Amino acid sequence: MIRMKRNILLHPDPRLKKAAKPVSDLSDELRQLADDMLETMYDAPGIGLAAPQVGLSDRLIVLDCRKEEGETPRPLVMFNPRVLSSSDETNVYEEGCLSIPDQFADVTRPAEVDVEWIDRDGTLRRETFDKLWATCVQHEIDHLDGRLFIDHLKPLRRQMITRKMVKLKRELARE
Ligand SMILES: [Zn+2]
Repeated sequence: MIRMKRNILLHPDPRLKKAAKPVSDLSDELRQLADDMLETMYDAPGIGLAAPQVGLSDRLIVLDCRKEEGETPRPLVMFNPRVLSSSDETNVYEEGCLSIPDQFADVTRPAEVDVEWIDRDGTLRRETFDKLWATCVQHEIDHLDGRLFIDHLKPLRRQMITRKMVKLKRELARE
């Protein structure tokens, strides 16, 4: 199957603020979209990508947090992912987002999450994620609910990043 890179939307964009719709049937188009998203994510490079970031309102995320040289890749495709339970214990990671390039901030999230999803073959899967994987899967599921990592920050910090992004987009539009 040929993988095609897709364009990643940049914040602020109303399509990034919308809740995505559950996937009801796994079609070849959706599988193609998942493959394209993985291609787009690895190329960026990033460790996660959600369908709304490429302008599609489907509950689909892809991720792979094995980013060190020499590690075997572990691409995960998740349709309709949902967090079944999360730990009281939290973790802080410096997060970034392919839709908010070059902006990073510490975000506190549950350290462990139990996640259920439908994989690329249509099989219902369930797994407990921790460390970077836990942060990443929560960040991506947030995208499906129209939430960005900056929505976890204090309003001032969020506004500062948004202003920088508005400026960046204006510059890119002029090129
Ligand atoms: Zn993101």
